[in-house]
Amino acid sequence: MPDVLAVLAVAGVLGAIGYAAWILSRDTSGPKVPTDSPYERALVALLAGDRDEAIHAFADAVRLDSNNVDAYIHLGNLLREKGEAVRAYRIHRELMARAGHSPSRARAIREGLVLDLIATGRIAEALEAATELRHAERKSGHSLRVILKAYEAAGEWERAYEIRAELAKQHEGRASGILARYRASIGEMHLRQGAVEEAKKSFKGALKLDRQHPVALLRLGDIYYTSGHAERAILLWKGLATAHPEAAHLVLRRLEAAEFERGRFSEMEQTYEELLGHNPRDARVHLALARLHLKRENLDEAERTLRSALEIEPASAAARLLLVQVQRQRGDLSGALDEVESALRGLDEETHIACGRCGRRQEEYWSRCPSCLAWIPLPTVA
Ligand SMILES: [Zn+2]
Repeated sequence: MPDVLAVLAVAGVLGAIGYAAWILSRDTSGPKVPTDSPYERALVALLAGDRDEAIHAFADAVRLDSNNVDAYIHLGNLLREKGEAVRAYRIHRELMARAGHSPSRARAIREGLVLDLIATGRIAEALEAATELRHAERKSGHSLRVILKAYEAAGEWERAYEIRAELAKQHEGRASGILARYRASIGEMHLRQGAVEEAKKSFKGALKLDRQHPVALLRLGDIYYTSGHAERAILLWKGLATAHPEAAHLVLRRLEAAEFERGRFSEMEQTYEELLGHNPRDARVHLALARLHLKRENLDEAERTLRSALEIEPASAAARLLLVQVQRQRGDLSGALDEVESALRGLDEETHIACGRCGRRQEEYWSRCPSCLAWIPLPTVA
């Protein structure tokens, strides 16, 4: 086999030359460490949560290889999340124009595009793109979260609800609690826009899914109360307080207004005692009880109740101010002034509900932030 030997010999020579060339080209400072490609660096940065580094590295990756579609998709999404939605949109739109994407890449590009359009405030176009996406993915059931965002941004709440229900079916089983929450939040939006009948329908729908849903009980109660059906309102509010003692404070003022108006002080007292039985450390119930005692001129009872509220919540400005009231009603002005002083010290520490995402402060509780639609947990007593 002389030919084979010759080939091997030539290969050996070439190999030796190659080896020598490699040795000579080597950095003299030591053995060369293999480096990551920009794309690998980008993925590692993304996994580590370092978005700025990921943006840099993905940008490097597409400069090296403009066919790296995944890098482009990521780059667009990261730019949007950083607030550069217009740039993100340009990248995703350019990718859309290219042909020959695999189905999952095509989907990722479309999803990015919908989110870019939402972020740039082009809601009608977002909705159109989402509808196309829905059409393309109806069989697969993918992309529902993105489609949901488009309907939410457009205020198409019935469509949004359908999609949310589909999502729940996919991931959460029957999930009537989740859907009740979603339905109730739609009611809140209607209520804020003054569409009371729509709101009422939504809250009733939520109660059909979960008959103790706190937001629905609260707001349907409000609607009944303002339309002159105080008895029904009281029933719903009490239902909330009993089913969710940790959230009873949401209805205390409402119950108070409704029952005081009717002069039903002893019923109120009984309600408060019941609530304290469920949750004895709820300072707000103590305060409500104290207000009731004040109203009935039971000054000693009022003071005792306020002292227990202060034991639970020493910084409570409301308890201090009610103590001022007690002293004043007793005619003890210097005692009243002392209480004013401690009340002022406590005022700084008053708490508000703030949105965890955009920081918007809420004067009253809404289950979704009116500014950014982030979900806000029901404020409860620790
Ligand atoms: Zn917000």
